[in-house]
Amino acid sequence: MDAPACHAPPSKSPPREGRRLIALAGNPNTGKTTLFNRLTGSNARVGNYPGITVERTLGQLTLKGETFDVLDVPGTYSLVSRSPEEQIAIDALLGRHGHPPADLVVIVLDATNLERNLYLVLQVLELGLPLILALNMMDAAEAAGLHIDLGALERRLGVPVVPTTATRAHGLDALRTQIADALDDDPLYPPPGWRWTPSPALAADLEALLPHLGDESPSGLDTSATRALALWALMSIDADDELDGVPAGLRLAVLDRLKGARAAGRDPDQEVATARYAWIDKLAAEVLHRDPPPGRTWTERLDAVLIHPVAGFAVFLGLMFVVFQALFAWSDPAITAIETTFGALGELVRASTEVGVVSDFLVDGLIGGVGSVIVFLPQIVLLFLFIGLLEDSGYMARAAFLMDRVMNKVGLHGRAFVPMLSGFACAVPAIMATRTMERRRDRFLTMMVVPLMTCSARLPVYTLIIGALFPVGTVLGLPVQGTLMIGMYLFGTVTALIAAAVIGRTVLRGPRVPLLMELPPYRRPDPRSVARMVGSRVKLFLTEAGTVILVCSVILWGLLYFPRDSAESQALVAQKAALAEAPENDDAHAALDAEIAGARLRNSYGGRLGHAIEPAIAPLGFDWKIGVGLIGAFAAREVFVSTLGVVYGVGADVDEESPTLRARMHAERHADGRPVYSPLMGMSLLVFFALAAQCMSTLAAVKRETRSWRWPAFLFAYMSALAWVLSFVVWQVGTRLGF
Ligand code: GDP
Ligand code: MG
Repeated sequence: MDAPACHAPPSKSPPREGRRLIALAGNPNTGKTTLFNRLTGSNARVGNYPGITVERTLGQLTLKGETFDVLDVPGTYSLVSRSPEEQIAIDALLGRHGHPPADLVVIVLDATNLERNLYLVLQVLELGLPLILALNMMDAAEAAGLHIDLGALERRLGVPVVPTTATRAHGLDALRTQIADALDDDPLYPPPGWRWTPSPALAADLEALLPHLGDESPSGLDTSATRALALWALMSIDADDELDGVPAGLRLAVLDRLKGARAAGRDPDQEVATARYAWIDKLAAEVLHRDPPPGRTWTERLDAVLIHPVAGFAVFLGLMFVVFQALFAWSDPAITAIETTFGALGELVRASTEVGVVSDFLVDGLIGGVGSVIVFLPQIVLLFLFIGLLEDSGYMARAAFLMDRVMNKVGLHGRAFVPMLSGFACAVPAIMATRTMERRRDRFLTMMVVPLMTCSARLPVYTLIIGALFPVGTVLGLPVQGTLMIGMYLFGTVTALIAAAVIGRTVLRGPRVPLLMELPPYRRPDPRSVARMVGSRVKLFLTEAGTVILVCSVILWGLLYFPRDSAESQALVAQKAALAEAPENDDAHAALDAEIAGARLRNSYGGRLGHAIEPAIAPLGFDWKIGVGLIGAFAAREVFVSTLGVVYGVGADVDEESPTLRARMHAERHADGRPVYSPLMGMSLLVFFALAAQCMSTLAAVKRETRSWRWPAFLFAYMSALAWVLSFVVWQVGTRLGF
């Protein structure tokens, strides 16, 4: 092979302690992670990049007796920093902002999409980084009738190219050999550098920025690389970028040059893209040969149906129906099993510990809290399994394409579709899923409305309220309860879309951008990628939401448990002690136990808090007992059910279908004899639960993703206000109308 061997230039990276670093970079979905897993085996460590919640995956690879760190760099189309992923990509490659510099960059290319993938390659070449290319998805390229002249590609690019098929582990040995060669010490040849010549005006812009680069430019870069950094600054910095730590002088200089360029009618972005693509097109014409297409491909045939405005929509609705069916019907046995297991575990601990605070804490606080986290897993796993399959098969891009028109009407990005869908399981992973959107505005707008989607924690609350307060019969031929449940799901979704329209036109105003998204070819989903995706979402839920829910549940338990003794509860305890322990008194004992629990709760800190907030919620038709439930719902919405169980003295381990809790709610009367719970009050409560920002984990997730308190505060304020006002309207108008 006549390819030049590629070696790390001397003294580029200062000698550091520890291992040398290989960075795997490339466009999204080129197989970086698959290749990473093949190269490193199962020793990957996943963490977050410092100060930002983008996953950082590091593994090890041993070659010729030396162990290297391998970094799975987030996928990017370009090194221009417009999203957190892109900023990380360039920082990780260059070793800026606390990242160790890469000793070798391996760019993973999708062979079926060579032209677009080469754009990133050109940028890395300009930066002069030691580079080799893994030309991945060779199987797909062959299947598509693409022939790539590898020798010519290597010669023209000036870097080694290794063909691979990561999913089948083809080409891995050659890749390892090439990596080892490239990391050998003697520098044999200089990195090839720029492949195009900037216009005189652009060259002047870059020259003017050089003195301001300062910290942005790691020491040891040559002139061509420093000019590439100046180009990066020119293209990344603008009046409202979100870059961290750009020196003020550099920012001013860039804004000044941009103003000058625009005044002269120039567009540097356009100019650079055109020049790079001109070079790539010429290269592609030389190295890329395509068989004439043998009629329509599978993908084209499928797309004729699946993105058809009518048929495609019908298929989409059908799929969504199956997804929801699965979410409710299929997860049920697993949920029951989890509840039974945690119930039994609680009993076991209760039986083997002494009666008292410790035992109560372990059973009701801790085990109950963990159980209330785990119980969401079946629905979350199922939903993300579907999303993973749909994404990996290539269908999700079509769904986003179909939904884009609807989403765009309300100002949401087409890619907001997946987070919104995830919101039906849990808002926390859904908020993480907004990272696929490039613009800050699109991400933040989606985060602000995702919590309105009907998450799985609302379901038990809806089931309790609807089951207890609405008749079983039919109205106008429709089953009241079932229709109401579907209605609540629609209500949440429609409210989210309206909220997006309003917020997108006020707080987060911004130009609409059309969805520019290529439709990838359909692929058979790879079980390993899907399993990895489900695993990472579940982990997110457990670490991000789970810990908050657990901590809140424990705090809540304390609020509702202490203080133990009041005059009221002591009187009841005395009454119980006076009652003989005879079998015929069992029922009376049980009734008294429930009374005691109720009395303790009423006098607990939580009970007092419920009283304290009563004036604020009375206009919505709620009394202090509901108030206690609402406070409980802050840990996680479904805690409302068990808190009400305690409030009404029917025990904490009731579920939403408990006949005793329903009966107690029915029997509950105001002082003047009117029932507390009426369908109208149920309506008001449903509306409140649909809209209120009652979830601490969601607020915490928004805080972490936006890195500011402002956004969670805004989310909380607008959702609570909306919930209060709409429940107020329902209750006040309803009572006036005589319901
Ligand atoms: P990343 O986004 O670059 O990390 O890409 P992933 O490793 O997650 O892979 C994206 C998708 O491409 C997955 O469904 C992989 O199974 C698939 N994939 C990866 N490498 C190959 C390959 O060589 N051939 C084919 N046909 N598919 C691949
Ligand atoms: Mg990846």
